[in-house]
Amino acid sequence: MSFLWLFDRSDHAKIKEVPISHSLTLKAIRPVTHNTQELTFDRPDGFTFAPGQATDFALDKDGWRDEKRPFTMASLPDAEKLQFVIKSYPDHDGVTEQIGQMEAGDGVIIEEPWGAIEDRGPGTILAAGAGITPFIAILRARLADKGTLDGYRLVFSNSCEKDIILRDELSSMKGLEVIFLVSEEKVEGLHHGQIDGDFLDKIGLEPDSTFYMCGPPEFEDDIAALLKERGVDEGNIVREED
Ligand SMILES: Cc1cc2nc3c(=O)[nH]c(=O)nc-3n(C[C@H](O)[C@H](O)[C@H](O)COP(=O)(O)OP(=O)(O)OC[C@H]3O[C@@H](n4cnc5c(N)ncnc54)[C@H](O)[C@@H]3O)c2cc1C
Repeated sequence: MSFLWLFDRSDHAKIKEVPISHSLTLKAIRPVTHNTQELTFDRPDGFTFAPGQATDFALDKDGWRDEKRPFTMASLPDAEKLQFVIKSYPDHDGVTEQIGQMEAGDGVIIEEPWGAIEDRGPGTILAAGAGITPFIAILRARLADKGTLDGYRLVFSNSCEKDIILRDELSSMKGLEVIFLVSEEKVEGLHHGQIDGDFLDKIGLEPDSTFYMCGPPEFEDDIAALLKERGVDEGNIVREED
């Protein structure tokens, strides 16, 4: 996170740290699943980030400006447009419920990019639900740069088939091995169940390779424990820091 330092004119004493923020106007919003939207803005001048990074994001309207939530940039860092893919939780009565109701012309405020999920090269990505978002930018950027995702394997876990974000795009990324799991229904062509020890043993792990993970905290804790039981060193696991 970057800050703008404010100094007292008389003695140059630092008096305040203010995060650098950008006001954006929503250009377009489109559904990517029944409860997930893709939001498109113009990328502000000077807003640069690494694929996989997030920003603190607030709605620019009364009563909501202090309600900052982290969301990941889904677009490429050098693209003219800045995009987010955001899942709404109406039962939280929070920011994502409001985002689900946004319209072109609405304003948001974002701050400087931050985050520890980065592309360290080929490996296995374990994602659940909206935890796919850091890997959207990482996979898109790698594909644009190298022309193939050879050596990358995505294991993407969801409750139901209709919850799978950007399924067509992920399925058609050149060189990417994709395994979709759904836990609450049986669907031909998709694995049934959750990512557990038996599943990991079945797909086969190379403990010295790189593992990426993102999802709800309990998902990440469970997966980290399963990987460690199978000889994976913490240093080979790429995840967001607490
Ligand atoms: C680094 C990072 C990047 C992220 N990137 C993305 C992204 O790109 N896209 C995306 O979709 N998500 C992303 N997320 C997740 C996203 O930040 C959360 O979904 C979002 O903060 C939820 O905000 P909210 O205001 O709707 O609800 P919350 O802030 O979670 O909750 C608001 C209130 O709802 C209540 N509440 C909380 N949980 C529940 C529950 N399970 N049931 C009922 N009530 C509840 C509580 O009273 C809470 O105070 C990211 C998270 C992190 C940490």
